[in-house]
Amino acid sequence: MKLTDLPDEFIKATPIIEKIEQAGFEAYFVGGSVRDIILNQKINDVDIATSAFPEEIQQIFPKTIDVGIEHGTVLVLFQDEQYEITTFRTESTYQDYRRPDEVTFVRSLEEDLKRRDFTMNALAMGKNGEIIDLFNGIEAINNKQIVAVGNPSERFHEDALRMMRGLRFSSQLNFEIEEKTKEAIKEHHALLGKISVERIYIEFIKLLTANYRNQGLNTMIETRCFEYCPGLQTKEKELKALTLISNQSIFETEELAWLILMYVLNIDNPKSFLKKWKSSNKLMSHIEACLNELRHREKHEWDILRLYESGPEVISDVEKARLLLGLDSNEESSLQQYNELPIKSIGDLAITGKDILQSLDQKPGPWLGKLLKQIEKSVVLGKIPNTKEVLIQAALTFKEENE
Ligand code: ATP
Ligand code: MG
Repeated sequence: MKLTDLPDEFIKATPIIEKIEQAGFEAYFVGGSVRDIILNQKINDVDIATSAFPEEIQQIFPKTIDVGIEHGTVLVLFQDEQYEITTFRTESTYQDYRRPDEVTFVRSLEEDLKRRDFTMNALAMGKNGEIIDLFNGIEAINNKQIVAVGNPSERFHEDALRMMRGLRFSSQLNFEIEEKTKEAIKEHHALLGKISVERIYIEFIKLLTANYRNQGLNTMIETRCFEYCPGLQTKEKELKALTLISNQSIFETEELAWLILMYVLNIDNPKSFLKKWKSSNKLMSHIEACLNELRHREKHEWDILRLYESGPEVISDVEKARLLLGLDSNEESSLQQYNELPIKSIGDLAITGKDILQSLDQKPGPWLGKLLKQIEKSVVLGKIPNTKEVLIQAALTFKEENE
């Protein structure tokens, strides 16, 4: 098979392959980008594999960055673009189900393609568009199938993450996992227990945010891989409920994916759930706030104080989640209401704590914070205007009332 009319990303990178060839080595486009042109999908990054060793690549190109020489990868800077060029390699003996004990550089393309996860990812393409398909990857793509390269059980023993990658590709491409490959996942799903949460996280979020999410989720349930995902072990029933949300409702961001997942799964302690996933503190706080509001929204409209406390990001994600869940949703009008609030934070008040201390001629203490909160609330609710004179007056009144 030979492709014509290669996308620009490849045309731009062709001189790189030519230069490597002129130096007497082989070089090919490999991996996801070759799969993606055959599928007519958006190309992510164009990866190049070569028979040249990393030091040889560094000699061919004047501008390189060493990003992982021990794995054979050199970053080449060429005409304002960066390309990862990786030496053909084999990965011998995996003793811990996740990392090869040793990476060996080889001069053979076939050896390199053999260690790749799925046949659709084991394609190579020469500079003129000729496809090298040693493992029937094109047939698998035509059949919309994800097929392990070689013996699936062995391949999942080498690196158990490949099982999660398979599920995620299934979600992204609307492909089925081929029967033998799927049987091997069922048999070996427990090996995922050996894989770091961080690596599972990346695949799981790609699965949830993809266009054919339910394809991946259903296979995840069928193969029982969910049992080795943090916090999901006991949630089979709820995961099934999640698959009832149509693929047409795409969870476009990671935040929306977590929010809807945790809402449908009835997660009662969102922080501890996300801690198990080792998510960032920022994400944890955002999701916790969203989940609270999403639950509150089941029976209530937004009120002024909740809009103020939540802020635009939370308001927006809560309303977006409602839309995806098939519930009535008012993102625009809620944000509009938020934008009309007299202040957006306590820092917007026309007075500060210092002003209050001066006008009241008092020493600071816990009373001050409380008083400021009272003033803040009155301003947010529109009970008093946000002007210095009025707020000082309000401070005096509140102080007297509080005593
Ligand atoms: P994406 O479009 O998501 O980047 P991709 O197929 O390019 O998909 P990458 O993670 O970028 O995926 O990996 C690039 C290539 O490296 C894959 O196409 C595959 O050939 C190989 N690969 C990546 N991870 C593994 C793995 N765990 N086991 C075997 N081969 C792998
Ligand atoms: Mg890639």
